[in-house]
Amino acid sequence: MNNFFRRLPLTTKLLLLTLFPIVLIVYLSIGIYREKTRNVELIQGYIERIDESADIADLISSLQSERRTSFAYAIKRDVNSRTEMDAQRLVTDLAIKKLRRRNDSMLTSFEEYTSLRNLDRIRAAIDSGTSQDVVMQYYTTAIFRLNTLNVVVPVTNNRYLEPVFNDLIIQKILSEMVTYLGIIRSNFYNVLYTKKNMANTLYGLLGVFEIYKSYETELLAKAPPPFLQEYKRTSQNSALRPTIRYITKTFEKFHFDSLYDAETWWKISGDGTDELKNLQHDIMQRVQANMNTIYNKEVLSKQSTLAFLAIAVVVVFGIMLYTTQVITQMLTGLNEAAQKISRGITGVPVANESHDVIGSLGQSISKIDAHNKQLADAADAIGKGNFNVPFDPRSEDDILGTAIIRMKDNLRRFTMEIEKSKEQFREVADSAPVMIWMTDENKQCNFVNKGWLKFTGRKKEEELGYGWIEGMHPEDYSRCSEVFDHAFSQRREYSLEYRFRREDGEYRWVRETGIPRYSAEGKFEGFIGSCIDIHETKMHEDRKDDFIRMASHELKTPVTSIKGYVQLLLNMFRDYEAGKENISSQMIQTSLATIDKQIIKLNRLMSELLDLSRIDSGKLDLKMQNFDVNDLVRETVDDLQQTTRHEIRIKNNVDCKLFGDKDRIGQVLLNLLTNAIKYSPKTNSIEVDVYRPSQNIISISVRDHGIGIDKKDHEKIFERFYRVEGKTEQTYPGFGIGLFIASEIVNRHNGTIYVESEKSKGSTFTFTLPISAS
Ligand code: ADP
Repeated sequence: MNNFFRRLPLTTKLLLLTLFPIVLIVYLSIGIYREKTRNVELIQGYIERIDESADIADLISSLQSERRTSFAYAIKRDVNSRTEMDAQRLVTDLAIKKLRRRNDSMLTSFEEYTSLRNLDRIRAAIDSGTSQDVVMQYYTTAIFRLNTLNVVVPVTNNRYLEPVFNDLIIQKILSEMVTYLGIIRSNFYNVLYTKKNMANTLYGLLGVFEIYKSYETELLAKAPPPFLQEYKRTSQNSALRPTIRYITKTFEKFHFDSLYDAETWWKISGDGTDELKNLQHDIMQRVQANMNTIYNKEVLSKQSTLAFLAIAVVVVFGIMLYTTQVITQMLTGLNEAAQKISRGITGVPVANESHDVIGSLGQSISKIDAHNKQLADAADAIGKGNFNVPFDPRSEDDILGTAIIRMKDNLRRFTMEIEKSKEQFREVADSAPVMIWMTDENKQCNFVNKGWLKFTGRKKEEELGYGWIEGMHPEDYSRCSEVFDHAFSQRREYSLEYRFRREDGEYRWVRETGIPRYSAEGKFEGFIGSCIDIHETKMHEDRKDDFIRMASHELKTPVTSIKGYVQLLLNMFRDYEAGKENISSQMIQTSLATIDKQIIKLNRLMSELLDLSRIDSGKLDLKMQNFDVNDLVRETVDDLQQTTRHEIRIKNNVDCKLFGDKDRIGQVLLNLLTNAIKYSPKTNSIEVDVYRPSQNIISISVRDHGIGIDKKDHEKIFERFYRVEGKTEQTYPGFGIGLFIASEIVNRHNGTIYVESEKSKGSTFTFTLPISAS
């Protein structure tokens, strides 16, 4: 049942709620209406009873009149009496008919027990001359019996009859008094008329008069003051006063005096009785009027009750319907708001005017909405990195709020870790010996490390964006941007080399490599890369290429020369054999000398290449021995002096024996001397100085006055393939390996080799060797 009621739609539930009170109201309404109808019927019954009573009173009054006229006719037997009697008979018949028509159960067969059935017979008897006693007897009995039917006063106290209750009692008492007074009056008339049975009649009527007086006492006791006054006035001023006084006096004296004859008495007492009848009639009319008022009031009350109930039902139904509609509307509004909130909408207006469970529900929905908004704002702020956004979970059970706080803490930690990691990256990148850079997804540079800034000598702001391109050599720009753009669009790793301006203004070759970088979600974020200064390596490679080119050229030249002279000699020999021509010894000598010279040159070249190969493979073996440095220097200079126009002078001549590879050290000295000759074409003197800067060291220096060497090349000339670049230098043949081999030989002897020189001011090459005994 409970579940069934719960499953019913809200409107049905509310209508059921409405239905019960309405059914109850209708049920009560019907009850009240029935009660009212009953009251109206009751009052109607009383009114009928009172009307009936009035009709009975009328009949009694008619019978009393007929009794008087019949009595008079029975005595007088004259025409007047007869006419009066006949007229009265018609009135009586009308009153009987009226009562008959009532068709009331109370009056069923009333003519039987009230002797009225005998009325026609009595009338016929009167007409035929019966005695006045029979007449009196018959009518008095009939009147008395009819009087007993006049019982309109309710046994119980009825609140509807309350206003007429007293009047009903009074009229009943008056009716009784009229009846008993009528009996006394008729009997007095009879006595006064017949002058017979005076004493007997008085004895018989004494009790009746006592009853009359007792009714009067009751009347005086029960009558309300206004009626009492009226009654007193009537009994004092009307014909009632002489009537009662005469009766009282008669009973006091127990004798009929001569004050009234029969007719006078009949007249006076008739008037007196009529006074009482009038009083009763007035009261009866008042009762009827009052009863009609009560009846009308009750009918009106019944109708207004009905109207009120109908209005009540309509109003209750209307209120219920209105309430149902309002509740449905409010709940529908809340439902719509809740649905919006469930779709993720915030800031939903929720009406919650009522201070009840619906209002409370509205407030709860508003709170949910407000909290959702708070959550969204907090999440938004947290998403933007504002971790100080004020936000507290609503309670310990607030899973979402707690999750947001946890998310905030985690995000703060992750962000800090990321920041830390970025910082570490920057530190690593800055401390890295290479130049590191990054671009965004639009190719714009957004990071360069300290190594970069150190290289370019510029500020970070100058390099970011596209500023760094200014440092690129203009000749390399279009080639590089083509490679870079392609790699960028393809998100491909790339590598390229270009010249980049260093802080001192010099363009240095750098090798740039770049790779695309992506976020954790796989979103392309630009490129990251590095630049390495490969200038030296590149120069070295260039020099190596130059060397190979030069070496092949240098090797080819003597071979071609030798081949030419050999060919010449062969032709000469063939001509000689054929007897065509004599051999010129001069010619042969010159040719062979040239061939020899070229072979020496070739040999030297090949020796140098061989040495280079040996050095590379670590197989430059030294044949260590003790020898005299002076001897070596002398021999070398003497040999060379033969082939040059330069004057080679040995300045010092310290006595010194050395342990080392004599040939190799001689090779070093020869190389220095050859260079001195080669690079001083415009001067003639060369000095060789052998000295000991300390006890254990011997220095040998070769000084020329030639083209000299710029300071920046001082160290580099000892590297392999390095040749000083310049207009003059390029004109000198050479491979750039002589000084390299020399420095290797010196180093192998744990010595040092260096140059002191200035451009155009000659050079002094010195090598030192430790003197150590074998
Ligand atoms: P090369 O065969 O070219 O002479 P070296 O190794 O002997 O090779 O010398 C290296 C370079 O040093 C030379 O190319 C030259 O430019 C420079 N050099 C060597 N000796 C002298 C010198 N006495 N005066 C000027 N330049 C020199």
